[in-house]
Amino acid sequence: MAEKSDAQSHYNGSGKRVAVVGAGVSGLAAAYKLKLHGVNITLYEAEERAGGKLRSVSQHGLVWDEGANTMTESEIEVGSLLDNLRLREKQQFPISQNKRYIVRNGMPVLLPSNPIALIKSNILSAKSKFQIILEPFLWKKSDLSKVSDDHMKESVGGFFQRHFGKEVVDYLIDPFVAGTSGGDPESLSMHHTFPELWNLEKRFGSIIAGAVLSKLSAKREKRGETKGSSEKKKRQRGSFSFQGGMQTLTDTLCKELGKDKLRLKSKVLSLSYSHGEKSALENWSVAYASNPGKQSKDLSFDAVIMTAPLCNVREMKIMKKGNPFLLDFLPEVSYLPLSVIITTFKKENVKRPLEGFGVLVPSKEQQNGLKTLGTLFSSMMFPDRAPNDLYLYTTFIGGSRNRELAKASTDELKQIVTSDLRQLLGAEGEPTFVNHFYWSKAFPLFGHNYDSVLEAIDKMEKDLPGFFYAGNHKGGLSVGKAIASGCKAADLVISYLNSSSDGKMFKE
Ligand SMILES: Cc1cc2nc3c(=O)[nH]c(=O)nc-3n(C[C@H](O)[C@H](O)[C@H](O)COP(=O)(O)OP(=O)(O)OC[C@H]3O[C@@H](n4cnc5c(N)ncnc54)[C@H](O)[C@@H]3O)c2cc1C
Repeated sequence: MAEKSDAQSHYNGSGKRVAVVGAGVSGLAAAYKLKLHGVNITLYEAEERAGGKLRSVSQHGLVWDEGANTMTESEIEVGSLLDNLRLREKQQFPISQNKRYIVRNGMPVLLPSNPIALIKSNILSAKSKFQIILEPFLWKKSDLSKVSDDHMKESVGGFFQRHFGKEVVDYLIDPFVAGTSGGDPESLSMHHTFPELWNLEKRFGSIIAGAVLSKLSAKREKRGETKGSSEKKKRQRGSFSFQGGMQTLTDTLCKELGKDKLRLKSKVLSLSYSHGEKSALENWSVAYASNPGKQSKDLSFDAVIMTAPLCNVREMKIMKKGNPFLLDFLPEVSYLPLSVIITTFKKENVKRPLEGFGVLVPSKEQQNGLKTLGTLFSSMMFPDRAPNDLYLYTTFIGGSRNRELAKASTDELKQIVTSDLRQLLGAEGEPTFVNHFYWSKAFPLFGHNYDSVLEAIDKMEKDLPGFFYAGNHKGGLSVGKAIASGCKAADLVISYLNSSSDGKMFKE
């Protein structure tokens, strides 16, 4: 039986109607949560499929992901969702997921899995190791005033360079941000990309000391928990996927919602809010294009959750009480393009296969002829994704490092991937299979002006009664954060419907 949280358990689900725009994982999670609370939802999706950036393909005995490949359970909303959907039995944890590699001097090197191992390894020079050891002593609380508001706009690169030096940025931070957001350390804002670490600095000065102290206090809080639950927590920290790939999650959400709730090929063109005489409810209408040239309108929604990317929201027409509600205050968001190349090689032709999660390529390694951002060892992680005699690889190209190359032809990208995998893994000859998927807007860039984007989202929510925004433009890029953002928007809608039904409007 799916659970409701305390905050909404008093809601009687009296058939209120909510429109959710966008059937990516955030919109689906929001719609599912609302449905659990008896809300009547309609979910609009522009594409002919649901899932958004979760996109799995099964073909020729292979299974691969063209969008997100794994997720984590750091957010509590993820755990509840997986339990409610009974997806635990389909969860797949990668084999040897702690074995991750970065390239140094043109070859993959195993990334140490903890700070002590990092100091013992020869991935960094003695100077950088010394800087890491000294960091807790150099960055004390007394530096706090210096590192607060002045650093709101600091880049990821600037922040880590202050604490650990340039080599750490070049060889650890650069490949990590390229692999998780397509971005580069100089363009990304620290405050928006790593808010937890940014806050650790504010609280403790030192990131290392802050991380250790936070871990200790979290442990103290957890004391008293049973062994079983601590094992569960350990599992929750790792990355995972599902049998059949990440889309199993969004497919399951669609199934639970039911076909009649989901309108595919229904691109929302305009939203209109008209204030009723007696109540603020049933005031939203949604116009959408279904078949080419055909426009339809649905009336009488009590609230709207918008999860479409902001570039799509900017194209929509919004009306408030008969007047255009202009979105000219919404800043343009910069997006990073990415190509995802799937290849398979006969096992006997890969001379130096590596066990583990995958390999990331720092920008600096372009000087050694490497052009890819990184490769996931997909069939090493999940052996059921390819026949026994093949290795399946997932390689990423583009991001802010190489926007132009992301757009290259499949043939050109195949050559690049083949050349990089030959150098890194000894993959000889041509791949036996190639698939190419191009995302023109894979990730929004959390750049230095991202505050203004969040302020504009706040303004929309404040000025439009019953309008809520969720998704990866708001709470963070990961699948877990997109789910959490959708669930939080659903909670806000439920509170809004409650207070509206009581006659207590909190927005006007
Ligand atoms: C290649 C790639 C790899 C990734 N890898 C990982 C990973 O390994 N782990 C991880 O945690 N995260 C990863 N991510 C990030 C993560 O997948 C996304 O941030 C997350 O899935 C976004 O979900 P969302 O619901 O916010 O947005 P989206 O998935 O973008 O969904 C928005 C939906 O809105 C629809 N829409 C747009 N306009 C309209 C309109 N006018 N009317 C109706 N519908 C509309 C779109 O078609 C889309 O379906 C990856 C992303 C990409 C692109």
